Amino acid sequence: MNTRDYRTETVAMERKMYLLVAKRTTGTVVKGVLRIPELVLKRMLSARQAVASAVSEWDRMFDEVRGQFDAVSSEGAAVEASEGFLYQCAKCGAPSRSHFGGKPDDQIIHLVGTGDPLAVPDWLCGKCFGAVTRRAADITMWYGSFVGVVTSGLIPGYRITADKGRLCSQAEFQSPDELKEHMRLVAARAGANACINFLKELHEESVLAGHSKNGNPYYRTARSFSATARAVVLEPDRRAYAHSSGR
Ligand SMILES: [Zn+2]
Repeated sequence: MNTRDYRTETVAMERKMYLLVAKRTTGTVVKGVLRIPELVLKRMLSARQAVASAVSEWDRMFDEVRGQFDAVSSEGAAVEASEGFLYQCAKCGAPSRSHFGGKPDDQIIHLVGTGDPLAVPDWLCGKCFGAVTRRAADITMWYGSFVGVVTSGLIPGYRITADKGRLCSQAEFQSPDELKEHMRLVAARAGANACINFLKELHEESVLAGHSKNGNPYYRTARSFSATARAVVLEPDRRAYAHSSGR
């Protein structure tokens, strides 16, 4: 990967060219002004010569920078076409080009959660983008193989092979279904395919709903839900299956 910053280089060269043109213009104006005091002819002539040689030197420098500018900008355009544009990784700061890295989309950010330091809607280097996409793929796998959310400590027909610890819903949800959906995602992020010991909590809060005609406030009750649960990895229990199917 080519991480040379052609844009900054060409911008610096453009600035150099601009300054040379500005110097040349000022020099020419000085030359014009010097034409006036005819009494100091000698001094004027030598000054004119000095200005003329300076102008030709600025022209030579301008042509030199112009040549470098053309070379660097055409090389930069070729690199950009084959490797993409240059940026700094939003996570680790490493220089990268767009064909090697990527930008996490809404789906990736939703899967890994905004608490993940790699969940940024900005350009990441190949290494960081690879890490976040692998993580999103893992979560998708756990989410897809989800067994369920139960209040009890086990699910019939399955055995627990790993305990990933206690989970809390970080936000409050409007409905139990929304809450369970969230717990499924949180469990998948923890590398689990089930939630046991699911404990739901109802929150009721009085919120201002408006004012009556004579200015008195009136309230309504807002309900929301939060929960805790244990995230576990479940596998089908073959013995239970053999027993229940009579084999
Ligand atoms: Zn990075």
